[in-house]
Amino acid sequence: MKKEETVSESQETEDASSLEPPGIQPDSRQTPSLTIQTSPNTVFTVSNRSMEFLAKHFPGTGINDWNNWQWQVRNSYTSLDQLNSFLGLTDLESNSKASGKNLPVRITPYYASLLDPDNPEQPLRRTVVPVALELNVSPGEVEDPLSETFDSPVKLIVHRYPDRVLFLVTNFCSAFCRYCTRTHMVSKQDKVHSSQNEWDLAIEYIRNHEEVRDVLLSGGDPLTLSDSRIEYLLAKLHEIPHVEIIRIGTKVPVVMPQRITRDLVKMLKKYHPLYLSIHFTHPDEITPEVIDACNRLADAGIPMGSQTVLLKGINDDATVFKKLTHELLKIRVKPYYLYQCDPIPGSAHFRTPLESGLEIIRNLRGFTSGYAIPHFVIDAPGGGGKIPLLPDYVIGRENDDLIIKNYEGKTYRFPDYI
Ligand SMILES: *Cc1c(COP(=O)(O)O)cnc(C)c1O
Repeated sequence: MKKEETVSESQETEDASSLEPPGIQPDSRQTPSLTIQTSPNTVFTVSNRSMEFLAKHFPGTGINDWNNWQWQVRNSYTSLDQLNSFLGLTDLESNSKASGKNLPVRITPYYASLLDPDNPEQPLRRTVVPVALELNVSPGEVEDPLSETFDSPVKLIVHRYPDRVLFLVTNFCSAFCRYCTRTHMVSKQDKVHSSQNEWDLAIEYIRNHEEVRDVLLSGGDPLTLSDSRIEYLLAKLHEIPHVEIIRIGTKVPVVMPQRITRDLVKMLKKYHPLYLSIHFTHPDEITPEVIDACNRLADAGIPMGSQTVLLKGINDDATVFKKLTHELLKIRVKPYYLYQCDPIPGSAHFRTPLESGLEIIRNLRGFTSGYAIPHFVIDAPGGGGKIPLLPDYVIGRENDDLIIKNYEGKTYRFPDYI
């Protein structure tokens, strides 16, 4: 589609902004963006970068389609040949199909518009475009490293901790991250969405286990389900008296911010207290579109946390990571967990030494807002759950004093009579 037409379609900008809640406005230092009204009650920001991508790679397609999340899913890139058409794959990338296994690919057109065709080392490109290194399986790498299948009392439920469960509501995801913990289930194309009957049995399990006060919906990505199917789940769980909070784990606001429609948000806010854990990886993901989506969610009173996987050469640099946490706080997302990359098959090229994670935490504590500091954790292989790792601030004891050091390395004493 031509750019002029696009701009003329945004003649509603004034009305559009009057519909906007008075949230934080998109950062003016970001890519310039337009606010576009695609239907009477849906207003989306679209960056010029995405607009150019649309015109170039989907000629004849209008902005209304681009802003329709189902269009984004239908037009996602799912093969190396499709990626090659706009990225010009390197040998390392194209050789990822050398094995018979054929690692699945899935990237939304929106997220594709953020990828750099000229730089195969670009962080965002590395998170979603496969490379032949994925074919090398290193010692200790296994499918289902967290033994979720083992901790599953009934299909779709992982009950590992005393008072909360993980409920894997779908196998479908709108983006296949190359380091995904659940590669083993997400990539199974044959078996995508779960049946209602399977859901009902899982809900029955929760209803029968009064100790479960926190239900975490994950998958796959729950926000790839339709509004009505999400509402079915939320309503059923919400009516169980001992379920105090519901959480949704998702990457949708990052890879398909078009999904965060006003209608979705209006529905979600009926089921408070509802939390969202969003999978963010890099500050470049925080585009005008994503800022918009997160503002909508925050304005609906949905507390948001971010879960980030530490990835070599992508976000393991202290400056990059600090920028990510700062950008997240600006859009009201609290950095919640920083994960050591799980040992799934073919992930060694992503894995950092544990010291890198500790170094990142050391570079944050004291140097920036405490709110910006996530918990650095290892999800223990074999189903041990999340285990926090902390830089050591305790030097030792001297009689009744604890000897500790602060963020600058200065030593202090604290009286601690036993
Ligand atoms: C991560 C996880 C949870 C939630 O853990 P929190 O520390 O409460 O966020 C629950 N169940 C399983 C199986 C998990 O992996």
